Amino acid sequence: MTFTMNSRDYMQYVKLVCKKIADSKDYISEIDAATGDGDHWVNMNMGFEAIAASAEEFSEMRLSEMFKQIGKKFISVVGGSSGVLYGSAYIEAAKLSANLEVLDETSLCTILEGMVNAIMMRGNAKPGDKTMIDAIYPAVQTYKLGLQEKTDLTMLLPAVKQAAIDGAEATKNMTAVKGRAYYQADKGIHHIDPGAVTMSYQICILMDYLIGKLEA
Ligand code: ADP
Ligand code: MG
Repeated sequence: MTFTMNSRDYMQYVKLVCKKIADSKDYISEIDAATGDGDHWVNMNMGFEAIAASAEEFSEMRLSEMFKQIGKKFISVVGGSSGVLYGSAYIEAAKLSANLEVLDETSLCTILEGMVNAIMMRGNAKPGDKTMIDAIYPAVQTYKLGLQEKTDLTMLLPAVKQAAIDGAEATKNMTAVKGRAYYQADKGIHHIDPGAVTMSYQICILMDYLIGKLEA
C-alpha cells in the first residue's frame, strides 16, 4: 500500500483543517484562556481561512511554491508565536520539496521532520516544553521509525495519528517553559496546551486523508 499527494490534494487537506479549526472555536478558546492569552483559535482560524481562500490558486502551483505561499500567509496574516512558527515550518517544507512533483510516504516524512526541526529552531523549544512540538515530534518519530521498519501504511498512518493525539494529551502533565503559559503561577500544569491540540488536529486530518488515498 502506498499514496501520493500533489498540490491539489494538499490544498484539499488544508480545507479540511480550516473546517475543523472553525468548528473548534469554543474548545480551543476555552483551553487557551486557561494557559495562554486566549487568541490561539483566532490566530489559527485567521491563518487557515486566508490559506483556504487561496486554495484554487495554490492548487495549481508546484509543491515547493505552494508550501512557500502557505508559509508567507502564516507570517503575514497570523499574529502571535504560531504565525511565525508555522511560517518557518512551511518555508522549510518549501526548501525540502524543491524539484518534487508529488509527495510520497518517504518525502512526506522528510518534510514533516524538517518542519518540526524548523519549529524547534525558530522557537528555541524542545519536546517536553508544553508546546505544539509535543504533538508533532512524537508523530514524526513514529512515522520515521515505521518507515525504517517497513510497517504497512495501513498500520503506520493510524499509529502516527495516535502519537499526535497522545502527545497533545501528555502536555497536561508538562510544565511550560516557553510561551505565555510560562508566565502563569502554575505554568499551565493540569491544562492541555492549545497549540499542541491544534497541531494534533492537523496531523490527524492529514493521516485520515492519506488513509483515504492508500492504494495497492
Ligand atoms: P502567542 O503565544 O504569541 O499568543 P498563539 O496563541 O497563537 O501565540 O499560540 C500559542 C501556542 O504556540 C502555544 O499553545 C504553544 O503550543 C505554541 N508555542 C508558543 N511558544 C512556542 C515556542 N517557543 N515553540 C513552539 N511552540 C510554541
Ligand atoms: Mg496566544
